[in-house]
Amino acid sequence: MNGPGRLGRELAHTIRRLYVRGLVSGVGGNASVLLPSRRQMLITPAGYFKGGVAEGDLVRVSLDGKVLGKKNPSSELPTHLAAYRLREDVGAVVHGHPPTAVALITAGVAVPVMTPEHAVMVRRLEVVDFAVPGEAGARAVEESLGKCDMVGIRNHGFFSLGADLHEAASRLEVLEESAKIFLAGRQAGGISGLGEADLKRIRNAYGRE
Ligand SMILES: [Zn+2]
Repeated sequence: MNGPGRLGRELAHTIRRLYVRGLVSGVGGNASVLLPSRRQMLITPAGYFKGGVAEGDLVRVSLDGKVLGKKNPSSELPTHLAAYRLREDVGAVVHGHPPTAVALITAGVAVPVMTPEHAVMVRRLEVVDFAVPGEAGARAVEESLGKCDMVGIRNHGFFSLGADLHEAASRLEVLEESAKIFLAGRQAGGISGLGEADLKRIRNAYGRE
């Protein structure tokens, strides 16, 4: 069953898991999930320690931006709303600060496709320049949301879109894993991403061509 209760538990669990994995910090990062009616969403609250968010802390917001209840939603609410309005295929949005991947895009280095999971999960990634989070950030990111699965913001973090929370969170995890492998490989003497022929074979094998 995919009711609000189950989705709320999953959302609270997802943000805590991302905290434990170092992909969001205590004060930074947020996540949301669209409710089955597709007219409301649940989003993590503003100002909460991300390692301790519980189901009852989540904020319900209608897709026209009306906050239902007394808690304040994450300041990144405008970007989450934009993602659901623009994309009918998106059911969850995760925003995190994966440190290695943020370092690479901020340095102007594209994160190469290092693993089969990366090839399958992170097909479309766009990078935009820094914008102050909130309304201005939403406008900058919004222009990319319609055409990609992840948007990287230099000096800040990533928005990851998915059909569900598992997919959105996994994209963030896989990207950070690739960034770490790439940097460690460079230190070890040189490394490159997967070549086009391998990428094609992987995507064929996973039925994502
Ligand atoms: Zn952020």
